Amino acid sequence: MDLASYADLAIDLVNTQRGRQDDLRDLEGLRALLVHRPHLGGRIAHRDLDAMRELRAQLRAIFVSAARGDEDDAVDRLNTLLIHHPVHPQVSRHDGQDWHLHFNEAGSIPDRYAARTAMGLAAKIADQGIDRLGLCRAEGCERVFFDTTANRSRRYCSDRCAGRPSVTAACHPSAPRVNVPARDSGQ
Ligand SMILES: [Zn+2]
Repeated sequence: MDLASYADLAIDLVNTQRGRQDDLRDLEGLRALLVHRPHLGGRIAHRDLDAMRELRAQLRAIFVSAARGDEDDAVDRLNTLLIHHPVHPQVSRHDGQDWHLHFNEAGSIPDRYAARTAMGLAAKIADQGIDRLGLCRAEGCERVFFDTTANRSRRYCSDRCAGRPSVTAACHPSAPRVNVPARDSGQ
């Protein structure tokens, strides 16, 4: 099992909110988030929606702290999540697969989501570094992402945002400039 792959759950949840747009306004929005996660299925209630929104805020705070370089704060927040949402691993074999690891199959959906996410983020940070956690710098975007570039230079969630004004361009000398390709001098 690739534990770090569970960190994608954090991206999916945090990015349900972009500025004023919020996909988790109702239970339909929560169902849409979980539709491709069969191990996180089941009956959901409004208290689950509230818990997922709270988890979303906690996860966003981790990305915000990491993106501004406050690593200790980001890790403190993550460790708090790990304490509140411990994983209960089980070794299992089914559907012709070899023995493999499963996480909590019991508990509420927000608890299961939080346990997997916290474990995934912890593995991601330990394996690849906390500076992989990114926050889009385009004004009004607020999406988070994992920076997979070799030199950890990613600043935007997407090409679309890279073409928009940066919210931090004025105060970040390292913010990327728009590079105009050099003309071929022979033409
Ligand atoms: Zn963006």
